[in-house]
Amino acid sequence: MRLSPTPEQLSLLQSALDRLREGFASLPDAPEHSADHAPDHTRPEAVAPALPMQAVLQETATRLHDNFPYHHPLYAGQMLKPPHPVAQLAYALATSVNPNNHALDGGRASSALEKEAVAQLAAMFGWREHLGHLTGGGTMANLEALWIAGQLAPGATVLASSQAHYTHARISAVLGLPFESVPCDTRGRMDLRALEARLAKGGVGAVVATMGTTATGAVDPLGAILDLRAKHGFRVHADAAYGGYHVLAGNLARETSAAFARIGEADSIVVDPHKHGLQPYGCGCVLHRDPSVGRFYRHDSPYTYFSSAELHLGEISLECSRPGAAAVALWATQRLLPLERGGEFVRGLEASREAALELHAKLAADPRFMVGMTPELDIVVWGVRATSVSASSAAARRVFEEAAKLGLHLALAELPIAFFGGPIAAMHADQPTLTALRSVLMKPEHREWLVEILARLDAAADAARG
Ligand SMILES: *Cc1c(COP(=O)(O)O)cnc(C)c1O
Repeated sequence: MRLSPTPEQLSLLQSALDRLREGFASLPDAPEHSADHAPDHTRPEAVAPALPMQAVLQETATRLHDNFPYHHPLYAGQMLKPPHPVAQLAYALATSVNPNNHALDGGRASSALEKEAVAQLAAMFGWREHLGHLTGGGTMANLEALWIAGQLAPGATVLASSQAHYTHARISAVLGLPFESVPCDTRGRMDLRALEARLAKGGVGAVVATMGTTATGAVDPLGAILDLRAKHGFRVHADAAYGGYHVLAGNLARETSAAFARIGEADSIVVDPHKHGLQPYGCGCVLHRDPSVGRFYRHDSPYTYFSSAELHLGEISLECSRPGAAAVALWATQRLLPLERGGEFVRGLEASREAALELHAKLAADPRFMVGMTPELDIVVWGVRATSVSASSAAARRVFEEAAKLGLHLALAELPIAFFGGPIAAMHADQPTLTALRSVLMKPEHREWLVEILARLDAAADAARG
């Protein structure tokens, strides 16, 4: 797991830049302004003197030291997976052109690459037809999906589980749609009886099924939700921002894969290539099953869309200017690592899930800890055994800090105590939620590093006891 592309990979960028330049070779020469500026004597005292570019980049790199080692397997905390070198290089290559995927005038080639890459994502969910595009991230993508739901059923209520991403309540408020949260069962999935009871009261326009919750990776029972749609008539939006790629994984539990098997029946799907898809940040994706919802996006722009009668991505997107480079990076990544069962990319997802199952089993056998639900994807949550929920929470925070001192970076999550079943029943329940330890094992390398992760966790747990 490297922090950056190798020198050999960087030389591939150099030759790709040469190839790119060939495409513009017939232009008359337009020399750049000299980089060596004459000293500026009008500069006010308070402004730092300009530095040569090399010094600026050295200073920039030094400033970037202030980060956790996200790329390293001992970073096993939040949802952070390093972008693939091909994504980094293709992104850098594209910034030379700096295309804008708002309109074909500003990003012809990169718009074509976006349409291809997005069609591959739609095909992953079994869709041959779709309407979709990339977004700045999962939040914007979910906003568009719920916006369409609101256009189709104005004023109707949006439902999502109590473990759904908090963005759905906020997006609904932005869109002026009523929002209600549906309780979860002890495995963090939407409770079907509670959902049915709410649907019976009427007025529901959309149900968000979370395909991999952000806190624990729980997958809502999509099949049953779709069956309820047939009876009650509402839109089903699958928020697969985190878990979407797992539709291809071959080693999910039966119930989880049954839910993913029906994701193509959802009305809209969101997946974040900048989470599991090896992309730098700034790459979400929204997909609508019925392309005719494109009519809601229609607008007249006096400025853009003059170059051709072909579809401009800005005609089917709420955001205007968007980085064409994000589409180029995604396309290049999927060219190198196609989205296919059994392929290298999917084997990586499967390795992450194996790592999570193994960590969960090791923690379950450790008398110092208590585990939550068996991971459905690759996220593990666990608590520290203590006499009370508050003491357990305080102990989890100490383990988190001691682990960080030992170079193992975990995360914390505030979760309902019901997620921890038996062991917590014996504890004094002096608060309704538990601060638990959480580890997102997104990197395929986590499987090989599990022994080292467990050794450091062991030492951190001992240190936390004092
Ligand atoms: C991350 C996430 C989001 C938000 O996406 P961003 O890319 O962070 O804007 C929404 N829903 C789920 C389930 C997520 O995991």
